[in-house]
Amino acid sequence: MKNYMEMFNKAMDVVHDLGIETGNIVDVKLNYRAKNRFGQCRRNNVTNTYSLNFNHLIFADEADDDAIMNVLIHEILHTCEGGMTHKGEWKRLANYVNANTKYNITRCNSYENFGIEKPKREKKHNYVFYCEDCGQTFIRERSSKFTKNYHAYRCGKCGGELRFNAEKSNYQILTSNPRYSYVENR
Ligand SMILES: [Zn+2]
Ligand SMILES: [Zn+2]
Repeated sequence: MKNYMEMFNKAMDVVHDLGIETGNIVDVKLNYRAKNRFGQCRRNNVTNTYSLNFNHLIFADEADDDAIMNVLIHEILHTCEGGMTHKGEWKRLANYVNANTKYNITRCNSYENFGIEKPKREKKHNYVFYCEDCGQTFIRERSSKFTKNYHAYRCGKCGGELRFNAEKSNYQILTSNPRYSYVENR
């Protein structure tokens, strides 16, 4: 995983070095859910500030640095005055960056440009459990008493113990039941 903040700061430098004035960016973070979007710029019209988020997948170690920079700059340009759409000012600035740097700011992007594999389709369910004995699956979309404490439940069909299938679940269960460790005095 590359250091995304370091790359973001570098992208900011590229834009500022060209004399482009950017908006007030108050938040930059990674997005772990988006699959078909690489970056997003959201404007708060009340405070006149911008929040950016970037698909964490594009910061994979093997991803192409320039391709990542293209995405970072793309979103940064959305914070410029009048830059929220892909027309007008944003387009003018993107062309300006393209003409004066090695970067290539485009409207659209694809996983191939980063040299990384497209993620498989999103998992269907948030929590998937199965019975250890008969294999019956139990699917839940919401966190509940059951999902938090499934060890306390048994399969209704055969009475077997339940297991959580982390592989097939969107969400992960961090602790299913508290485990205690004992520390000895030295
Ligand atoms: Zn855009
Ligand atoms: Zn069972």
